[in-house]
Amino acid sequence: MDTTLAKISDLRANWLRAHADRAEQLFINNEWRHSVSGATFRCMDPFSLAHWGHIAMAGPVDVDAAVSAARAAFDGGAWPRTAPARRAALLARLGELVESSIDEIARTLVFENGKTFEEMRRMTQSFASDCRFFGAMAETVHGYTVSSNLPGYASYTVREPIGVVAAITPWNTPLGLLGWKLLPALAAGNTVVIKPSEVTPVSTLMLGDLVLEAGFPPGVVNILTGDGTTGAALVAHPGVDKIAFTGSTRTGTAIAKLAAERHARVSLELGGKSPNIVFEDAALEKAVAGVIGGIFGASGQSCNAGSRVLVQRAIYDEFTAALVERTRQLRTGDPLDPQTQFGPLAFRGQYQKVCEYLSIAEAEGARLLLGGKATDSAGLFVEPTILGDVDNSWRIAREEIFGPVASLIPFDDEAEAVRIANDTVFGLAAGLWTENLRRAHRLIPQLRAGVVWVNTYRMGGHAIPFGGYKQSGVGREMGIDALNAYTEVKSVWINHGE
Ligand code: NAD
Repeated sequence: MDTTLAKISDLRANWLRAHADRAEQLFINNEWRHSVSGATFRCMDPFSLAHWGHIAMAGPVDVDAAVSAARAAFDGGAWPRTAPARRAALLARLGELVESSIDEIARTLVFENGKTFEEMRRMTQSFASDCRFFGAMAETVHGYTVSSNLPGYASYTVREPIGVVAAITPWNTPLGLLGWKLLPALAAGNTVVIKPSEVTPVSTLMLGDLVLEAGFPPGVVNILTGDGTTGAALVAHPGVDKIAFTGSTRTGTAIAKLAAERHARVSLELGGKSPNIVFEDAALEKAVAGVIGGIFGASGQSCNAGSRVLVQRAIYDEFTAALVERTRQLRTGDPLDPQTQFGPLAFRGQYQKVCEYLSIAEAEGARLLLGGKATDSAGLFVEPTILGDVDNSWRIAREEIFGPVASLIPFDDEAEAVRIANDTVFGLAAGLWTENLRRAHRLIPQLRAGVVWVNTYRMGGHAIPFGGYKQSGVGREMGIDALNAYTEVKSVWINHGE
C-alpha cells in the first residue's frame, strides 16, 4: 500500500473507531432529546462494511412533539413574523457555519453513503451557498397589484407562508436535496420538521448544532431520525401543512395518497430513466465524457442519471468503442481517496437491487460490453456496466436501476430518438449531444422532461428550477419557483368607494 493510501486507511479506521458508539438524539424545539421508546438503529460504511453510531428511531410520540414545536413557532408568530431581513441574516449565518464544518460534514457523508469525498464536499458547499441565495430571497417575497375592473375597489395579492413543512429526504444527495426544501421554506416564513433517510441521518443531524449556534428561535427547525414508519407518521400528522419529498416514485405515490386525505400541500421529486441522446454530428469526445459523467458519476445513484444512452446508428459502433475504452479507465476505490472516480454503492439493499437488474439484463438478452460483475467482499461494488443493443421495451430500459448500468439503444433519425426518449413513465431530464443548434432547438420542445441539457449533462444552479414531468414528480425546486412553492397566495379586495 502506498503512503497516501495507508494514511487514508488510518483516517478511516480512526474515524470509525471514534464514531462506533456515537449516540444521536432527536433535535426538537432547539433541544437534543432521546426518542421516547429508546429504540435506535445503526449506520454502515459501504466501503469497509463497518457499522457505526446508534441513531434514535423516532416514533409517533416524537413526531407529535416535533410537529407541535414547529406548530407553536409558526402559530405563535416567532418565525413568520420575524422580519425578512432577520431571516436572511440567520440563513446567511447558517451558511457560514456549514462552511466552517465542511470537511467534517463531507467526511460523515462519505461514511454514510460511500460517495466520493470531493463530491460530498461540493454538495456541502452548495448547501452553504444555497443558504445565502434563499436568505437573500426572504426579502423578495411579493405579490402584485391588479387594476380592478370594478370601480370603487382596489385589489392586490400577498404571498404568505404555508405553515409547518415536513421535509423528507433520500440518501443519495442528503444535504443538497434538504437545502432545496429547508432553505426556501424558512426564507418564506415556514417552520420545518426534517426526516432524513435512515441511511444518511447523521450528516443532517449535524445541522442541529449549527441551527442552535446561528440563533434560530426554538421550533423553527426540528430533526427526526427514523425509517419509513417515522416518515409515514409525519406525513399523516394533521399539524403538517405541506410535505416536501424527494425519493422513489413508489414512496411519493404513498405520500400523495395520504396527503390527499386532508389536502395537505405536496411537492414531489421522484425517480427517472433519463435519455442521453447522441447524434452523429456530436463532438464525439465530449459526448463520451458527458455520457460517462451522466451515468457513472456517483456510481449511477442519481435521480437524473442518463441511464438510457440513445446513439444514432451511423456512429453507434465508433461511439460504443470509445465509451467502453474511456469507462474502463475510471479509477475505482476508496471514496475518501482523492484519486477515486468510482466508489461503492450506498448500502446493501441498493447493492442487491442493482445485482438483480444485472441478472434481468442477462435474461433479457442485453449484450454485455463492459463490467457486469459485483462484489461485496471489500465494499459494495458493482462494476461500471455498459449494455449494448437494448430494446426500450425491456425492463432494464423502463425501470429505475439507480446504479452504474448504462443501456445503449440505437436509433436512426430525430423522430425515432424523440419517440424512444419520451416512451417512459418518467420525465426528469434529457441530454442532447449535437453540434447543430437548429436541431437542438427543434428537439427541446419535443422532449417531455423537466430539464434538457444540450452538450452538457447534470448542470445545475440554485437560480434554475429543477423537477420532473410525468411520474418524476410534482412541482419545482430551486429558483423563484421554489420560494413560491412554500407560499399561499392571498387576494385582497378593498372597497374604497367611488
Ligand atoms: P425512498 O422513497 O425509499 O425514501 C426516501 C425517504 O422517504 C426516506 O427518508 C425514507 O425513510 C422515507 N420514507 C420511506 N417510506 C415512507 C413513507 N411511507 N412515508 C413517508 N416517508 C417514507 O427513496 P430512497 O431510496 O431514499 O432514494 C432513492 C430515490 O430517490 C430514487 O428513486 C431517486 O430517483 C429519487 N431521487 C429523486 C430526486 C429528484 O430530484 N427527482 C433526487 C434524488 C433522488
